[in-house]
Amino acid sequence: MNCIFCKIIAGEIPCYKVYEDDTHLAFLDISPCADGHTIVIPKKHAAAFVEMSPEEAGALFEAVNKVSNLILKKMDGITGLTIGMNTYESAGQSVMHTHAHIFPRFKGDGGGNTHTIVSSAKSADSEYLKKISEQLTK
Ligand code: AMP
Ligand code: ZN
Repeated sequence: MNCIFCKIIAGEIPCYKVYEDDTHLAFLDISPCADGHTIVIPKKHAAAFVEMSPEEAGALFEAVNKVSNLILKKMDGITGLTIGMNTYESAGQSVMHTHAHIFPRFKGDGGGNTHTIVSSAKSADSEYLKKISEQLTK
């Protein structure tokens, strides 16, 4: 399979490792958006988060939690984290091996939060919110 993250797992492409256990690997993003920008991946290939079983998805979140705490404890000057997962092309996913981004944050670093993601949200109108809520719960 021509998957760049599978090649990293196999050791065919080098990486700057942050954490590894039997099922997950974390390494520094090659094109960082923040100092210590880290990618966490499951070793078993899945194209996207929503294509994993609930158990696999839960295990990935456990690994993200562990790596987040490790980064918070060990990085100089860190005061927060932004954690995110681009899922599918419309959301900007460029590597089709599911992965979580951990962005270390620093006081006054000037970066945005998740609310700065460009959105085509139609409205915060209560009728519209009600309609979506009903659609998702029925
Ligand atoms: P996404 O756009 O959410 O699919 O994120 C993919 C991320 O993988 C990007 O931030 C890339 O910079 C990063 N990336 C791609 N190739 C490598 C690599 N060989 N080593 C480390 N990070 C990589
Ligand atoms: Zn893969």
